[in-house]
Amino acid sequence: MNDVTFTSLGVAEPLRRALEAENYTTPTPIQAQAIPVLNEGRDLIGIAQTGTGKTAAFALPLLQALAANQKPRLKRTTRALVLAPTRELAMQISEGFKTYGRHLGLRQTTVFGGVSQRPQVKAMERGVDILIATPGRLLDLMEQDHIWLNSVTHLVLDEADRMLDMGFIRDIRKIVAKLPRRRQSMLFSATMPTEIEKLARELMSDPARISVSPKTVTVERIDQRVYFVDAAKKRDLLSDLLSDKAMGIERVIVFTRTKHRANRVAESLDRDGIPTEALHGNKSQGARQRAMDRFRRGEARVLVATDIAARGIDVDDVTHVINFELPNEPESYVHRIGRTARAGAAGIALSFCDASERGYLRDIERLTKVPLLVAAGEPSRETAPARPARPAHGNERSNRNERGAAAPPAGKRRSRRPRPGRSRAA
Ligand code: AMP
Repeated sequence: MNDVTFTSLGVAEPLRRALEAENYTTPTPIQAQAIPVLNEGRDLIGIAQTGTGKTAAFALPLLQALAANQKPRLKRTTRALVLAPTRELAMQISEGFKTYGRHLGLRQTTVFGGVSQRPQVKAMERGVDILIATPGRLLDLMEQDHIWLNSVTHLVLDEADRMLDMGFIRDIRKIVAKLPRRRQSMLFSATMPTEIEKLARELMSDPARISVSPKTVTVERIDQRVYFVDAAKKRDLLSDLLSDKAMGIERVIVFTRTKHRANRVAESLDRDGIPTEALHGNKSQGARQRAMDRFRRGEARVLVATDIAARGIDVDDVTHVINFELPNEPESYVHRIGRTARAGAAGIALSFCDASERGYLRDIERLTKVPLLVAAGEPSRETAPARPARPAHGNERSNRNERGAAAPPAGKRRSRRPRPGRSRAA
């Protein structure tokens, strides 16, 4: 994949010129995968988060197709329809289209709620090539006969899972019902809940499916440390870290691989007097909601969750993510640690790695290309990694911790004995 360029992906010259001006030298992974598929005219499901370069991944092929097939504009119509859940995202996408398409002479407009509809109606009067819209305002304008969708050849649904969370799915079905059947459709979503899978099946025919993790740069903003620890000592280590004021662990999501382990960890923290909630698939919707509410309000400082249960969790000010167990899928690690460092704040991710998890750690480091700083312990010899373990507090990364929380000295951690009655294997 090293030699992939925008030229080799088939991106046309006027678009490349715009990309050069933006200093986009190399396509991101989602661009490398999506552009050729979309250039062939296929439908596409892209599982990707913001920050991966997904906007250009759909905007470049779309702009290229529209420019190659110039048509007289018809009043009140558009040829491409891009649906976004929020006004902010709609504006961001709109900026992207403007930037990439600046040499193509296509017309675009953006409609969203919360502002006067008059300029939006006026912009649609003569017709556009690209319409970027939030579903509610689009439906309003359709119902008033200001926008007609009978000329749409390209549909994009961006951040589909957020549309679901925001209750837009019915609106989307209503909008899609007005589109011509012959069209190219693409759907992007960070996660794929069943509802979205279902919607995708309704919208698309034989879609290609691609999936990428967030760009390394996102992961790099997170201070990532690993504790090499015996499986049996993980619970003590967790309690110790949570009790250590110097760690600055205010609001934390602890991840386990299984529901059973999530329960056991939550119970043991509760016994230690640390208010904790567990979130996993065996709980009823109501119980999950109550757990989330308590965590959100700060009544529970710790949320212990499995990967599946944690999908779609969006809580601000999560200071730390702790991987009590490493995930067997490296992509899950990226999703997990993305729960901290939201809204531009740098977060901290601590991972517990026992001898059986060394392979998982290697896969993670291979994917993120960010070696984890060793906070405590050493990898056991028989499964030692190719890279030698570094001492805790490696200076090269200690400045990354923008919250200023220091890891406890390795010696302290490692010499601690399990307390009586708490030495059971986890
Ligand atoms: P997005 O995921 O679409 O929100 O894009 C995230 C950021 O990456 C945006 O600021 C884009 O301008 C930027 N970006 C997208 N593609 C590239 C690329 N190939 N090279 C450099 N930056 C890019």
